[in-house]
Amino acid sequence: MLNFDNAATTKISEKSLQAYVTASETFFNPSSLYVKALESKKLIDNARNYILKKLNAKIGSTLIFTGCATESNNSVLNACITRKDKKYLISAGEHSSVHETAKYYNELGYNVVFIPLKHNGGIDEQALYEELDETVAFVSIIHVSNETGAINDIKSITKKIKEYNPNILVHSDGVQAIGKLSVNLKEFGVDFYTISAHKINGPKGIGALYIANPNKFKPLLHGGGQEMKLRAGTENIPAIVAFQSAFEELSITDFSLHKKAILDNLVGDFVLVSDENCVDNIISVCFKGIRSETILHILEESDILVGTGSACNSKAGKNRVLSQIVSKDYIDGAVRLSFGDEISVEDCVFATKKLTEAVKKYTITIRK
Ligand code: PLP
Repeated sequence: MLNFDNAATTKISEKSLQAYVTASETFFNPSSLYVKALESKKLIDNARNYILKKLNAKIGSTLIFTGCATESNNSVLNACITRKDKKYLISAGEHSSVHETAKYYNELGYNVVFIPLKHNGGIDEQALYEELDETVAFVSIIHVSNETGAINDIKSITKKIKEYNPNILVHSDGVQAIGKLSVNLKEFGVDFYTISAHKINGPKGIGALYIANPNKFKPLLHGGGQEMKLRAGTENIPAIVAFQSAFEELSITDFSLHKKAILDNLVGDFVLVSDENCVDNIISVCFKGIRSETILHILEESDILVGTGSACNSKAGKNRVLSQIVSKDYIDGAVRLSFGDEISVEDCVFATKKLTEAVKKYTITIRK
């Protein structure tokens, strides 16, 4: 099987799985006071410190473990969208866990402004800066788009926002950036950064949230005071330890030849959304005259798995992000090819040839 849907999720690595199994034997509740429990607590703190170091976190910052990146994103918006006399700027290219939460707050009467995208799915920076005024309290910008692979320059954008007003809180969803780009949170200057284990060959059901200044955060989950009173709920130790293990294995692979192999072999009437300002492991392309599902199922017959835009959007109907970028003639033929280390350049050539065959065979030409 050739998995070209790596942005949806990744296979847990052997090492991370083993770490999960071993840590499952440490079943003690880390909030208890006996020695075994304290050892469990130590596993959590070790993982926290390891990940903070790997992300070059700022001194005084912390990281809380959550049930998933969706929870991390919901937590940030819950902590930051608090006043009706303030303005909240959200990129229109956010993952639905930010977008839908922002829409929810908007419906409750908070002033949420969605900032439009450029043609590759990155935020329109000019439009963002034009919205800055004394009422802005919070900005959320995805680091790498899960739909198109577009990279937002979080360091430079955060610098400009903080130069305008250092009190504006900045969040970035880094779920698709980890392991693809180098992440230095101290340099980025962000207040919050979201990550998820299952996108980096770790287990599902575990995410984390970097918090630069814990005093500027309030918990979404209240209860037993776990995670420094910032996220209640008994900690998922096996998943946390396996998350650390996935981080230990991370290395940034150069996928430029993979992307070139795909682009060189693509034919048909299509719009390439993912330009050179996108990560090389996510390629979004929209064909005219053929539906995504048709392509997906034909490729599946050859054991090639692809995405039709983001998996999280596939049940929500029209692709919200892509429909801002490509015209309606192309939107129904959106295919996302995303891959990891197990895919070779030859696999990319093979999959693209199969994709091309499917497009040639099943494209319907509409005569006007
Ligand atoms: N943010 C981005 C950019 C994603 O790609 C995803 C997953 O698709 C999420 C957040 C949600 O992650 P999780 O599945 O851990 O809730």
